[in-house]
Amino acid sequence: MSDKSVECRVSRRKFLSLSSAAAATLGISPLSSNASDAFAEATTSSDDYYAKLGVEKIINAAGTYTYLTAACMPPQVQRAVAQAALHPVRLKDLQLAAGEYLAKKLRCEAAVVTSGASAALTLATAACIASANGVSPQDIPENVDKMKNEVVVQKAHRYEYDHAMLLCGVHIKEVVTLEDYKRALGPNTVMTNFFNAAEPGPNAAQIDRETWLNVAHEHGVPCHNDAAADMPPIENLWKYTGMGFDLVCFSGGKGIRGPQNAGLLLGKKHLIDLATANNNPNSDAVGRGMKVAKEQIVGMVAAVDWLLAQSDEKNQAEYMRLTNIIANSVKDVPTMKTRVFMPSIANHVPHLLLSYDPSVVGITPQQVQEKLRAQSPSIELNPATGTSSRVGIPSDENTIVIATWMLQPGEAEIVGRSLKTVLTKNHT
Ligand SMILES: *Cc1c(COP(=O)(O)O)cnc(C)c1O
Repeated sequence: MSDKSVECRVSRRKFLSLSSAAAATLGISPLSSNASDAFAEATTSSDDYYAKLGVEKIINAAGTYTYLTAACMPPQVQRAVAQAALHPVRLKDLQLAAGEYLAKKLRCEAAVVTSGASAALTLATAACIASANGVSPQDIPENVDKMKNEVVVQKAHRYEYDHAMLLCGVHIKEVVTLEDYKRALGPNTVMTNFFNAAEPGPNAAQIDRETWLNVAHEHGVPCHNDAAADMPPIENLWKYTGMGFDLVCFSGGKGIRGPQNAGLLLGKKHLIDLATANNNPNSDAVGRGMKVAKEQIVGMVAAVDWLLAQSDEKNQAEYMRLTNIIANSVKDVPTMKTRVFMPSIANHVPHLLLSYDPSVVGITPQQVQEKLRAQSPSIELNPATGTSSRVGIPSDENTIVIATWMLQPGEAEIVGRSLKTVLTKNHT
């Protein structure tokens, strides 16, 4: 079937009559089959800028990775985004109304839609600097060296998102033991950052979530918890603010399936107000470059509405069904062992681990990854494929890793068939 078949306006009936696999291949398949005319209209091939730009569409068997554009928005979120694009509004009105609505839905004092979890961490840091020092947004970062400016973090929680705090001009003070921690919380501390998904392991954090929080609060220091990738389960959206974390961030475009350039900062009202003061559209503020357009603010709110109507059990059962389709298609490959791994916190969804002896099968997992990437349709496997270097996923050089939760209808079958073909071809 060529793109021509969807060139003109696709009727709802015609749209639904495409086989789901064909629809998925054409890139027009939504998460569920009840797409409206508006959605079908929005995907005629004359609007297909991926095709115009020659950018390849991929099948995402990897997960919610930013470099793969993470999640696709469900049809109702796409429709809300399209509606929002039709009218200008006052940006501050929209930011405030969206925040109030989300705070009610997510059971916290206050909320703001940010341009992602990383931006939420920056705004959280700016809010805590402002709270500790009583300074205005234009002082951050230029004058931060002359004020209280320390963020306390466990050594095992240092991560690639530290930059989001550092760009406010703060200094990070590393601690390992509880004694270190108590000593580090002093007159210069403005906040602490907890990396919610930090895994137990050789460099494991010694201080658990609750102790971390209690000790900070004994010293009057606010705590931020980075839970960016830690939904599902849905209840995590209120669990950590409910525990007492002053600020908690989530990525909007991962499991929540909102716009990929959106996120949530949730927490105490006085800190969210300060985060908002340091946010765009205010120009003389660290958050000026972290603008969320009206379409994405609305999309983020619509995604939360969509999510709160979902069931974790049903979603996990569907991810397992897709996982089994792929596992079954390769189970007869010589030496193949299949197992399913659920990370306990971040990306808490089934990951299929396919382990085999490459010297018998004739191709390594990394070669399989390259072949699937090069074929049409192009498939991206989880980046833990063929390596033990990815924290949190127990893979190795003889293992292929697949996450099914970002697959669209019909794609699990394509992934299964493609893997089977590549693993059973005579490679010599
Ligand atoms: C993905 C992620 C982020 C960044 O999220 P964005 O929404 O892409 O900015 C921050 N922290 C952690 C732990 C993450 O997994």
